[in-house]
Amino acid sequence: MGMVARPRGTAGARGSVSMRPMRPAKIPLLLLVTLLGAAAHAQSPAPRPLLVTIDDLPISATRLHSDPAERERITRGMLDVLRKHKVPAVAFVTWDRVLSPADVGLLRLWMDAGHELGNHTLHHLNYTRTAPKEYIADAEKARQEIAKLAGAKVRFFRFPFLREGDTEAKLDAMRAYLAESAQKTVPVTLDNQDWSFEEPWVTARRKGDEAAMARVAEEYHESLHLDIRHHEETGDKLFGRPVAQVLLLHGTDVGAAQWDRLFTWLEQRGYRFATADEVLADPALSEPHRYVGTFGPGLWDRLGEQKGTAKALEEVRKLIETQVEAWNRGDLDTFTASYAEDAAFLSPTGLTRGRNEVLERYRKRYPDSKAMGKLRLEPIEMRPAVGTEFTLVGGAKPSRVHGVSVAARWELSYPDKEPASGLTLIVFRRNRDGWEIVQDASM
Ligand SMILES: [Zn+2]
Repeated sequence: MGMVARPRGTAGARGSVSMRPMRPAKIPLLLLVTLLGAAAHAQSPAPRPLLVTIDDLPISATRLHSDPAERERITRGMLDVLRKHKVPAVAFVTWDRVLSPADVGLLRLWMDAGHELGNHTLHHLNYTRTAPKEYIADAEKARQEIAKLAGAKVRFFRFPFLREGDTEAKLDAMRAYLAESAQKTVPVTLDNQDWSFEEPWVTARRKGDEAAMARVAEEYHESLHLDIRHHEETGDKLFGRPVAQVLLLHGTDVGAAQWDRLFTWLEQRGYRFATADEVLADPALSEPHRYVGTFGPGLWDRLGEQKGTAKALEEVRKLIETQVEAWNRGDLDTFTASYAEDAAFLSPTGLTRGRNEVLERYRKRYPDSKAMGKLRLEPIEMRPAVGTEFTLVGGAKPSRVHGVSVAARWELSYPDKEPASGLTLIVFRRNRDGWEIVQDASM
């Protein structure tokens, strides 16, 4: 029985086969195939829950659809597909897109069909460019209107452009407001660019250009498949299991025409349409992210960025420790090995350029262990440099951490004289093998 615990490496696998040679040989091939088939079948995962959310209701591209009859046709088209696939959706209303009593009627159709209305603010403001006070007032006005219409509490909130704050303070301000007003953010995990196909679709349809419509439809599905696969993989990798997902769609004519095909593809992919309560109960979705940025990437990319940043900071912290240890054993070669070949070293006595020159400078100033003393380096703050990358299909996602700047306090202590201390700013850049110091300003 001890064999069970053997490591799964090649040697272990070979070993276990040679230790029980009779077992595979005794099973007839056909039975073995059947058993393997059964095992594969048993392992095929249970359908994974997916919440469908639809933003910018009653109609996303107001400018393209001013005719009330067309707005109703699109709404009924979307609702038909949701009914066909038994999708319980959360429908996020942007209140200034409710243009008339007829539009209020459209929102009633959503509620009558059993979907829940959520708050997508009054003016669809960009939080990156709006102060919290103004943004919160805008969100609160919409919440009151939607609650009045629904005759119920508004439980769910969706950030326009998925922008949740470009500073920690803004992130916290909205979280406090949402908690106070008992609204819950519904994160997006399967972010995509479905809205961008509305204009080409409507243009082609109005021209009666069926070839162009078919082309737009193909691109719509290709683009959504790409995004969905990317986010699925990112989330599953982060949590090591198939996590529940939240799909973002918009109230569009192209959606009314293409969702049937999209939902069929999702069902074949192993998804089961589920309620907000079920999907949000997955712990992966209640993971509080602290992503601060100007754009609004999907939740898994936010969590991935946090993980990547934590790892980068840890690596840099370790490198600093290695340097300090090298200094304290009098090893200046190792101490300066982390400097880039073209590093710039700034000190009150001037500028030194290049790793070798930095090493020379240290050798002159600190000829022996006695002169070097004992070094302590306490990081005061570490700032990762993370930007935004845009995917081929136009999605925004955080870049990897390219650099880390470290503000630190240094202190040299000696057995026979007063310690020396000061501040330093060290800039690390990621290279092929890890990290290197490109700039160091010590004072
Ligand atoms: Zn929106």
